[in-house]
Amino acid sequence: MPDGIEIVEVSPRDGLQNESLQVSTENKVSLIRHALAAGVRRIEVASFVNPAKVPQMADAEAVIAALPDTGAVYIGLVLNRRGAVRALETKVQQLGAVCVTTDSFAMRNQGQTSAQSLDIACDVVGAALAAGRSAQITIGAAFGCPFEGEVPHDRVIAMARRAAASGAVEVALADTIGVAVPAHVRALVTQVRGAIAPLPVRVHLHNTRNTGLANAWAAVEAGAATIDAAIGGLGGCPFAPGAAGNVPTEDVVYMLERSGIATGLDLDALIAGTTWFSGIMGRALPGMVSRAGRFPQAAISVLEGVEQ
Ligand code: ZN
Repeated sequence: MPDGIEIVEVSPRDGLQNESLQVSTENKVSLIRHALAAGVRRIEVASFVNPAKVPQMADAEAVIAALPDTGAVYIGLVLNRRGAVRALETKVQQLGAVCVTTDSFAMRNQGQTSAQSLDIACDVVGAALAAGRSAQITIGAAFGCPFEGEVPHDRVIAMARRAAASGAVEVALADTIGVAVPAHVRALVTQVRGAIAPLPVRVHLHNTRNTGLANAWAAVEAGAATIDAAIGGLGGCPFAPGAAGNVPTEDVVYMLERSGIATGLDLDALIAGTTWFSGIMGRALPGMVSRAGRFPQAAISVLEGVEQ
């Protein structure tokens, strides 16, 4: 197992895009500030998509304009060239492009065939590099498609090879609809790592069928360098039927840190962020560590308990 792993916070984009409650620009900025306070160094802050289709992201430019310059890398998600133009007019340092493994899902998600989505993702990377920014490519529905079922590994590997050749800083495998299980994650991460090395593999996991944390563990074991996670386990995809939230950041951090794998993130600050955001959303969020609390408690509390 590695000594450490990177976590990319995705709650401000993937976490919120499926929420019907319109979160104010101010609260989105506060959510990002909570993540930064917890030590997050790379964070997906918005997506540049059609506001008519994803109203929650209509204030992408305003959110980004209000963000502090801390040295953390802000990612803007982009599904097409128009989105890339918008993103490059902001201060995001990294563009996140998305291609999808099947035509059925790619058409619903972004009005493109699978092949077109990969072409456009590679174009987005080129546009980012030309503008002096970095870019990464995520392969959506890498572990299964809601419309076409199982996705052949060979197709994912071929897409990953082309994505890697585009100049992207990493390639991500997304379990967009949350159907993956650890054996699948271990196999596909291992195969894609072999195909694109030395470029790193990131994973993006949804907990739709309660395998999210187990999949995160399998991804780390298989050598993924980075895991996407969302404070509180927010999330979902408006174009994927039944999709549930991302793996909760604080639950992933608890699991990994207690296993001796450093994340660089502060669990107490993440729990505070989740508690605050739960209040904004007016409901309990799916993550569990924020409800149960850390274990063991801080040393000082334990001592106090002994004295009593
Ligand atoms: Zn997602």
